[in-house]
Amino acid sequence: MPAGSPSPSEAKASPERTAVIVEDDPDVRDLLDAVLTQAGFATSTAASGLEGVELVRRTDPLVTTLDVGLPDIDGFEVCRRIRAVSDTYVVMLTARADEIDALMGLDAGADDYQTKPFRPRELRARIEAMLRRPRRTVPVPSEPAGQAPSVTPGAPSGAAAAAHEIVVDGLVVDVAGRTVVVEGTEVHLTRSEFDLLAALGGAPGRVLSKDALVRVLWGDEYDTGTRVADPDRRSVEVHMANLRRKLGDDPAAPRWIRTVRGVGYRFDQPS
Ligand code: CA
Repeated sequence: MPAGSPSPSEAKASPERTAVIVEDDPDVRDLLDAVLTQAGFATSTAASGLEGVELVRRTDPLVTTLDVGLPDIDGFEVCRRIRAVSDTYVVMLTARADEIDALMGLDAGADDYQTKPFRPRELRARIEAMLRRPRRTVPVPSEPAGQAPSVTPGAPSGAAAAAHEIVVDGLVVDVAGRTVVVEGTEVHLTRSEFDLLAALGGAPGRVLSKDALVRVLWGDEYDTGTRVADPDRRSVEVHMANLRRKLGDDPAAPRWIRTVRGVGYRFDQPS
């Protein structure tokens, strides 16, 4: 299908399940289109970054897949520009697993990362898991006045969704409102950073393994059998580093989150 045109939608596609695919490689673009269409999405595609930003601005899709290597502006820049106009869930695709650390460190606002080549089933599972994660309840600034904040169908669910506040030593986490305040100042976290903080803060004194935290990011309450791999664990480490930086929590002298060497992380018990 030519880039920029909407694909013929299948019967299953509903108005809420829309996706934009930004990918310059026609083969990969067609594969993504097939996977998402089969998953019930009405898709539109773009072959360049600028075209992708415009398509997202125009259609405000539920999900956007974004290639990192594009011919005009790169995927990070596309993601930043998308973030200014849309709260769409963004999955970035990269050809190299070892790039993921660097990618995530750039903090462009993506919700998840997927390495290429990918198995269609894996990508589909990743997208469904991403959609189960609750969204911030505050509307993005660009949202038109009067429009209600987006709500993910079926979410929130599970322990992290329990409406409560975590208050420890100058840190206040409003789990339902998805806001974080440190010493009276609100700190803006990405969805992944918030989910990790809420999981750790919801189980003070307990060590959560990196594998368990990967499943938190996937939205897996139950082990669905998807294997946790090294890039997934590294992504937890990178999110955790960004989280600590934003909270001002020094890993060498932690105030809230302790590293348990070789295992994972622990949120300190309120003293
Ligand atoms: Ca590319």
